[in-house]
Parts: sequence; C-alpha cells; structure tokens
Amino acid sequence: MTLGGFLSLRQSCPSFAAPIDSRNGAAAAAASNPRALRFRHKSFPRATYLRAPRRAMDPPRCLGSSGLEEATDDIAAAATLHRGVPSDLVEKMMYDALVWSALHGLVVGDRRVQNSGTVPGVGLVHAPFALLPMSFPKAHWRQACELAPIFNELVDRVSLDGKFLQDSLSRTKKVDAFTSRLLDIHSKMLEINKTEDIRLGLHRSDYMLDAETNLLLQIELNTISSSFPGLSCLVSELHRNLLNQYGKDLGLDSRRVPGNTAVSRFADALAKAWNEYNNSSAVVMVVAQSEEHNMYDQHWLCAVLKEIYGVATIRKTLSEIDTQGHVLPDGSLVVDGQTVAVIYFRAGYSPNDYPSEAEWRARFLMEKSSAIKCPSISYHLVGTKKIQQELAKPNVLERFLDTEDIAKVRKCFAGLWSLDDPDAVKSAIEKPDLFVLKPQREGGGNNIYGDDVRETLIRLRQQGTEELAAYILMQRIFPTASLAFLVREGVWHQDVAISELGIYGAYLRNKDKVIMNDQCGYLMRTKVSSSNEGGVAAGFAVLDSIYLT
Ligand code: ADP
Ligand code: MG
Repeated sequence: MTLGGFLSLRQSCPSFAAPIDSRNGAAAAAASNPRALRFRHKSFPRATYLRAPRRAMDPPRCLGSSGLEEATDDIAAAATLHRGVPSDLVEKMMYDALVWSALHGLVVGDRRVQNSGTVPGVGLVHAPFALLPMSFPKAHWRQACELAPIFNELVDRVSLDGKFLQDSLSRTKKVDAFTSRLLDIHSKMLEINKTEDIRLGLHRSDYMLDAETNLLLQIELNTISSSFPGLSCLVSELHRNLLNQYGKDLGLDSRRVPGNTAVSRFADALAKAWNEYNNSSAVVMVVAQSEEHNMYDQHWLCAVLKEIYGVATIRKTLSEIDTQGHVLPDGSLVVDGQTVAVIYFRAGYSPNDYPSEAEWRARFLMEKSSAIKCPSISYHLVGTKKIQQELAKPNVLERFLDTEDIAKVRKCFAGLWSLDDPDAVKSAIEKPDLFVLKPQREGGGNNIYGDDVRETLIRLRQQGTEELAAYILMQRIFPTASLAFLVREGVWHQDVAISELGIYGAYLRNKDKVIMNDQCGYLMRTKVSSSNEGGVAAGFAVLDSIYLT
C-alpha cells in the first residue's frame, strides 16, 4: 500500500517522546496507594457483553461525536476491556496487530540494531502498544478537548509578557544552567525588540484522572517537541481495526474509539504557517537529534506535509544548523542553501541536546531570524514547569484569561508549589508519597518520588542553598489502575496499569489574526503500575487509545 493510498484512506496519522516516559512514578504511586487499585478481579459473564459487531463509519470526533451518542450502553463491558479475554483470542489479535503495525508504519527504531536511530528503514520494530484501548469517561474527554484552545491562547498571551517570564524564572536561572541559557536568548530578543508576528504553537497538554476526586488534572503542558502526533493516530486506527474484527467477541464497539487527527491537523498547522511566510520555495526544517529512534513519528508528519500540502521539509541537527546556516540581512534563515519558512523543533528541549557552544549558536541564530519558530524561545519558556507552577498561584491567570476560561483552567490544576513555601515543603517531608518533586527538565526520567522526595527536600533545606529554586513540588495524582495487555517487541503481558491522556493543540496567529486555534487529536499512554522497592520500577509504558464510556 502506498503512503498516499493509506493517507487518503483515512488521513491516518501516525506519536512518542524519548521511549515513552520510561519512568514509572505515577505507576508506583498507584501501586503504593491502595485506593488507586480499584479494578475488580471478577470477569463479566461473556453473555452479558456479547453483541453484534459494528463497522466504524464516522469515528467520533472530539466535541462532535454523533455516532457515539447512539452506541449501545456497554460501559460495563468497557470497564472490563482487558479482562476475561480468552487467551486464544488474545493470540489472534496479537498476530493481527503486529502485522497491521508493520504494514502501516506503527514503528520505531529498534535499539538492539545498530544504525536504527540514524538510518531510516534499518532495524524497525513495532512501537510498544496496548492491545486494546483504555476506557475513559466521555465527560472528561470532552473537558480535556475543550481546554486545548484555551491553553493555546494562554501560551500565546503569556509568551508576550517577557517580564513575567524573566521574573518568574529569575531564581531558577541562578541554579539551572540550561534554563539560564534559554533565558539569555530570550533577554537578547527582548533587548533588540524582536517581535514574532507569525506565531505557531504545536502543544500537548497531558492529564491524569485522579481516582479519589474524579478530577481531570493536568500533569504538564508541552510547548516544545510534543511527541507522537504521528504514531498516536496509528494506534487509534489499530484499535478500531481490531474492534471491527473482534468487537463481537469482546462486546466492544469500535465507534467508541475517537478518531485521531493529530498528524493531519499538525501538518495542516505547519502548512498554514508555511503559507503565511509566503515564500513558495522555502521549506519546513525539522530540528532533530542526531540519533532518533522515534524518527518515524516525525517522518509521518513530514510525509503528510509533503503528500497533502506539497510542502518540502529538511531535517537538520542543531550542530548542522550551526555549520550550514546563516541569516541574511533581511532576516531570512538559510540552511544548506534553502530558505527556511518554519522551524519545527523535535530537539533542543534537553541540556543533552546542547553538548557544545555550536548548538547554542544554532539556537540563537534561528531565534534571531525571521523564520517561524515552533516554538519560539518565549513559547518554549511558557512550557516550563516553573511557569506552570507560577500560573497556578492566586491572581496570576487573571492577567491572561477572562473569567470563564480561568475557571475551566483552574479546575484542572493540581496542587503546585514552589519550594519557597515552607508549609508545602513540610507536608512533603511528612508525606512524600503524596507529592512529586520536579526539576526544571523535560523529556522524562527526571522527577523524584516517594522517599527520595523527603531525602532531597531535607538535603536541600539543610544546605539552605538557592538550589531549592531548581524544583517545584506537585500534588501526586493517583489514577485508577486497570488491567491492560501491554505489547513490546512482539510479546504481550497483562498487568495492572495506569494511563495519561495528552490532548494536542495547534495555534497559529499572524499579528491580530488567529488563523488556527484547535484541539488536534490525542495521545494515550499506559504504563504498568508496579513498583520496585524504591518506588522507581523499570519503566514500561505503551502507546494506547481511548474507549469512551
Ligand atoms: P516530563 O517533562 O519529563 O515529561 P512530566 O511532568 O510529564 O515531565 O512527568 C513525567 C511523568 O511523570 C508523567 O508522564 C507522569 O507519568 C508522571 N507524573 C508527573 N507528574 C505527576 C503527578 N503530579 N502525579 C503522578 N504522576 C506524575
Ligand atoms: Mg511529560
């Protein structure tokens, strides 16, 4: 099947930041919190959930789910999605799912194979996935979708308040060399009064559903390198495909898996931004890491951009941009002889991406150019955890949003504190399992959980250093755990798992005109909720989709 054929079939998209967050903090949280383990072991009698198969026609779309409303009420069955499935059926679905993944590009580079992170087509393995979608309440799904355009707008407004960003991050700057470098670039742009008339944001807001309060709470808002717009669509498609075939046996309806438009909507946003730049020979430049096992997620986006919109992309590392790039007197960015209309960052969010001054030079070069940056340095800074915590303080959202939106946004804020807050620090030392300690980092594997929270806080407090400002404290969220079939490297295992829902959002603006401000599909990630002694188990997360209940 050609790529074009497949795409036209249903604008299927293919999403994953580093290997799906390999840490297992929240999973550990759920495991260590008996309240969270609410799954029932008893299987439903098969007769109660057998029903006629349904063909997926119009997939339910967020905020407009016509087919969904009339689907029969199989909530009870949904609650047992991964339970009581006979093993021969699991094996059949597994086989079909693995074939489907290979044929449809639901793949990542296989770390066991040399060059699989650098040479496309070498050493592919299916992306880790859940065999069946995870049930998720329709009302919370709608709430998450409704928040996307509000967060898009919030990011844009906060990004314009340079003083707020600099002031909020001023103490972090003293102790965090990476944030400090980003802030330096930001300061230089403020000094030269650099304005970004065309602003493009491709965000992903991540949530967990807190079991005890039944509240949808935001984990974080990603404004740079929001991963898996490509592969997440494919997982939704895989699940619908499996339910079309095996739904009768499972008592499940494929129409309850919402259609996922992340890749086509992100490509649409990139194409619209490219169009605003108004230079038909210019390209979109993907800033990539030199070794990237998640390259196919990115290539999906580029493929849609080319096939549907006729926009060409180039792929460059920060170091290549340093050697091959320059800015013309009129501000145009030229890299490897090509004018760049839009810079799409899938690297540059971690200190590891800047091993030398060359990479920082490249970042600065791009920032001062007239190319549209996705994200600009300001958008990048708005996505920091410190800003998330500042926005949660009383009377801060009021500076950026109107009353109605403030209420919606605040409702999804978990408890967030700076380490300046002695009461919060005291509580976290007393009950570390109820908190997560987060340094100013992106990309997974950096957070501190359980007893390590207490030890770190006591150490920092004793040292009495400025280092406290490098962290924020967050209420730990305990989602309901349920059984799931997790598939990795061709092997499945069933385990107790918890999920995190990401909602993509795209925002494009040219001066006063908002060209796009939409919710754009979703990413579900599911991970095992078992833990080791220290509360940090070997990570095991997979791509998933949702089954609306
Ligand atoms: P990163 O930028 O590294 O992705 P996140 O804030 O998303 O940082 O944290 C990484 C992971 O840690 C999340 O995907 C989630 O599984 C877990 N996590 C983060 N914050 C919380 C929290 N408050 N409660 C429970 N789990 C959390
Ligand atoms: Mg995250």
